[in-house]
Amino acid sequence: MSDKILQITNMKKHFHIGGGRVLKAVDNFSIEIERGETFGLVGESGCGKSTAGRTIIRLYEATSGEVLFNGKNVHKMRGGELKEFNRNMQMIFQDPYASLNPRMTVGNIIAEGIDIHGLSTGKKRKERISELLRAVGLNEEHAGRFPHEFSGGQRQRIGIARALAIEPQFIIADEPISALDVSVQAQVVNLLKKLQKDHGLTYLFIAHDLAMVKHISDRIGVMYLGNMVEVTTSDALYANPLHPYTQSLLSAIPIPDPEVERTRERVILQGEVPSPLNPPSGCPFRTRCPKAMDQCAATMPPMKEVEPGHFVSCHLY
Ligand code: SF4
Repeated sequence: MSDKILQITNMKKHFHIGGGRVLKAVDNFSIEIERGETFGLVGESGCGKSTAGRTIIRLYEATSGEVLFNGKNVHKMRGGELKEFNRNMQMIFQDPYASLNPRMTVGNIIAEGIDIHGLSTGKKRKERISELLRAVGLNEEHAGRFPHEFSGGQRQRIGIARALAIEPQFIIADEPISALDVSVQAQVVNLLKKLQKDHGLTYLFIAHDLAMVKHISDRIGVMYLGNMVEVTTSDALYANPLHPYTQSLLSAIPIPDPEVERTRERVILQGEVPSPLNPPSGCPFRTRCPKAMDQCAATMPPMKEVEPGHFVSCHLY
């Protein structure tokens, strides 16, 4: 039976930047996420994926659309309901250097949420900090130290412990491994997977690295210029990408099998990503799409379910 923890319909986030100009950072965003799954959100830098994450967790107010968390509209929550939402949804940030306060000890950083929500004090608080440090592969002596004493990978572990401290149901991980050495990336991904299993977490995992997203995600959504263009399971996306933009992203990933690699067709995209201040008419991808037709400039293709569970926004289907 399906149990949707997050249902987003037509979410938009536009920024008015003066001179009557509007930056359409997120323009067409609808997804549903099942409890316990990992939904990967991918696209090039500037496609709106981080803004989408920040709008879902209400760091930004949505311009329009609906975000339901456990069936309740996030952008209409007030008082106790909002406090409960703030506890249930947490975020892990890309930059483990910038997101930890350098003047606070690791113990106090991790316990910030515990203190705000009044979850424990004294000995219990101390025990909880130790338990969280162990859960992310650090140890209790680390509680008295400061962030600068740790490596990038360890700092991201501290960020994860902070997010876990108040027992959230849902974590938005915004490029959580992009700033880390390649050798450390897999360790952090494996830690996130283990914690998901142990704590029944649901993840929205935002990244530009498709190979890593496949490794961790059950389903993937591909964004281009503020719009969701394709959504399906991670296996189907890799085996049968339908949107020309997804096809080009995937063709850039090297395949370890030299036979397959030799016979594969590479799609090299022409031109730059257009500005979200002045997006193209019709399909947002049409200025770079090798398969664009007249119709593509005239109308925006609706999102269609082309195969069971495989959605794509493209006039070819
Ligand atoms: Fe390309 Fe047209 Fe499909 Fe857009 S709608 S992806 S321009 S074929």
